Amino acid sequence: MRNILVVLSGPSGVGKGTIAKRLIDRNNDISLSISCTTRNPRDGEIDGKDYFFIQKPQFLQKIDEQGFLEYSEHFENFYGTPKDFVLETLKEKDVLLEIDVNGGLKIKESYPDAVLIMITPPSIQEIRNRLINRHTESEEKIELRMQRIEYELDKQDLYDYSVVNDQLEQAIIDIENIIKSEKIK
Ligand code: 5GP
Repeated sequence: MRNILVVLSGPSGVGKGTIAKRLIDRNNDISLSISCTTRNPRDGEIDGKDYFFIQKPQFLQKIDEQGFLEYSEHFENFYGTPKDFVLETLKEKDVLLEIDVNGGLKIKESYPDAVLIMITPPSIQEIRNRLINRHTESEEKIELRMQRIEYELDKQDLYDYSVVNDQLEQAIIDIENIIKSEKIK
């Protein structure tokens, strides 16, 4: 069985963060990569757990040092996948990245064996409700994120798999089955 790099993407509010955490809790042989970001922590987010929250100059320096497997800019903030952690961990375990579509496609270019999974909402209205209920973003920011949804979903065909997050438990089982089948390829 091979260790695989699994990329989970999907529009903001689709529930991919929850799915990623549950997958890690249930599967000891999967490790979650923690990204670096220049955005400010939201209430309850912890440095080193949710993200490594760093300043822009530090981020730019890490780009220069080729410290990221990929990085992208999102609503004026940078997000990047630390290269060393992923490559080292892959020697022992599967690694899960929860990153945006552009990042996922960049990963596929350099690591064609990576498995790209797009999480999709049961409906666009559902995702708007989830964002509103999260109470972390202003109305204006929610609108920007809604515009981004179509952009991300349009890239679905470039991903290896799509999983609808209608029933959380079922979505997790679907992803676990994808991972199992990919590991024995
Ligand atoms: P948020 O600010 O809501 O935590 O994340 C915004 C977007 O950035 C999400 O789509 C998330 O998956 C994506 N993201 C998080 N970390 C990374 C990363 O390391 N690289 C890329 N390309 N996107 C990321």
